[in-house]
Amino acid sequence: MLPLVALVGRPNVGKSTLFNALTRSRDALVHDQPGVTRDRNYGVCRPEDQRSFVVVDTGGIAGEEEGLAGATARQARAAAEEADLVLFIVDGREGRSALDDDILRWLRKAARPTLLVINKMDGVDEDAARAEFARYGFDDVIGISASHRQGVDDLLEEVYERL
Ligand code: GDP
Ligand code: MG
Repeated sequence: MLPLVALVGRPNVGKSTLFNALTRSRDALVHDQPGVTRDRNYGVCRPEDQRSFVVVDTGGIAGEEEGLAGATARQARAAAEEADLVLFIVDGREGRSALDDDILRWLRKAARPTLLVINKMDGVDEDAARAEFARYGFDDVIGISASHRQGVDDLLEEVYERL
């Protein structure tokens, strides 16, 4: 079985854009509206010189537990709990939010190996963005711009060290 890497984060941080960059597909629905991707979406990342792995793009995790948002949150949690590695995606432009804090709390409970990935690093002060998320206490923090495909190769190297 191929290793499984889950993309987890609040709506609109760029999970689906990263999913597309990793799987080179247009399968994941990228949209300006938060919460557009509702279902788990699986794809395969097939790098040239490394072992393939499965990527799961989880829907945005909403704070409320009722209705569709609640169902989406449960899907995302289920995906994270079965993953070999979780990529916790945050938005370097918008910085920390209460929803990021909530997600981090349950990710810690899920206790899966987790990398913090700060997306949308294009056009932001990278040091300031890293400082913003320093209190999350991750040893390794990867800055990327999924839509510009910047940092994605470095991210892949970090992923392989952990699979
Ligand atoms: P998701 O809800 O987490 O799946 O986020 P999406 O992948 O749908 O992206 C949400 C929005 O952020 C879209 O308008 C993307 O084009 C935009 N976006 C994604 N990655 C980047 C990035 O690296 N830089 C910038 N500036 N925008 C991005
Ligand atoms: Mg999405």
